[in-house]
Amino acid sequence: MEMKFKSILDKPKSHIIIAGPCAAESEEQVLTAARGLAELGTVDLFRAGIWKPRTRPNSFEGVGAIGLPWLKKVKEETGLKTTTEVAKRDHVFEALKYGVDVLWLGARTTVNPFSVQEVADALQGVDIPVMIKNPINTDLALWIGAIERIYKAGITKIAAIHRGFSIHGDSKYRNVPRWQIPIELKSMFPDLQIICDNSHICGRRDTLLEVAQNAMDLDFNGIMTETHPDPDNAWSDAKQQITPAQFGDLYHSLQFRNPTTDDAAFKDSIEHLRHEIDEIDEELLNLLGRRMNLAEEIGKYKKLNNIAILQSSRWTEILDKSIKKGTAVGLSADFVGTVLKSIHEESINHQEKIMREG
Ligand code: PEP
Ligand code: MN
Repeated sequence: MEMKFKSILDKPKSHIIIAGPCAAESEEQVLTAARGLAELGTVDLFRAGIWKPRTRPNSFEGVGAIGLPWLKKVKEETGLKTTTEVAKRDHVFEALKYGVDVLWLGARTTVNPFSVQEVADALQGVDIPVMIKNPINTDLALWIGAIERIYKAGITKIAAIHRGFSIHGDSKYRNVPRWQIPIELKSMFPDLQIICDNSHICGRRDTLLEVAQNAMDLDFNGIMTETHPDPDNAWSDAKQQITPAQFGDLYHSLQFRNPTTDDAAFKDSIEHLRHEIDEIDEELLNLLGRRMNLAEEIGKYKKLNNIAILQSSRWTEILDKSIKKGTAVGLSADFVGTVLKSIHEESINHQEKIMREG
């Protein structure tokens, strides 16, 4: 489906900065957070969850609609625009009633087309920006589907939020970033703004800057970071929240990159390097083609002599040797393993073809 997106900010700027608590807890907590953030002068949108989708019941599920007047107060007092998560028709109506400026769909909503459609139907004919988080699983089509449903309701000010993907087992991240998925989304929809929610990717404070920087290096259009006046005592996501002052430090440590430049010398050297890379890629492909021809030759001999295609000792030998050589030239063992496994699989396919041929 062809889609044309507009910026979610009225005054488009190079990077969209979103901060605020995971959840609104009290009027005082909301206003203290907002005042601290407004003081920084760098924040575009104040976030606060009013309705919280929680993994287990009996966790704090958000204060509900009573928190909406607090967000209104934030706007009146600090001038910060506000944003909150909506997952149901009533959430949309309530949020609109209290003048919330931007809405977002959470990761647990994006996974469910029924819920996304319910929100989309409630938004029909309303001109409000909507941010759509990735689904918790690595399903790009599901993310695009949610964007399409909101777009079809007439919303064109849409941004995507990358908040990482669920993972089983131990990881440095609460939700692994798998950057190639948002990058693929961006390459399909170049005018779609993509914001990095470093808080839900990290799940902890000490890696927030590193992940936000990674996003900037990948040309993301902004960040969303959970910010609380008293992070340790937050009612949800305490481990990952930082104070407004710490958010100020994070912001100032970030290197914001430019997507392109007019500097001729820079362009020249980049062009030159890209040309060299293209040549190497071509060479790699030619070599791979030649390698497959050799594999087919071997296949013919194996067939003539009635020998099995796979000789696992030979494969282990190739792998060991290559990992040694690869790591010596600065490649990771993981990478060498992945590439070789893929080459090996292709070789076997070529040999199988030979075996099948009469
Ligand atoms: C949130 O932003 O507080 C939230 C619930 O995030 P997610 O939907 O990414 O889990
Ligand atoms: Mn949260």
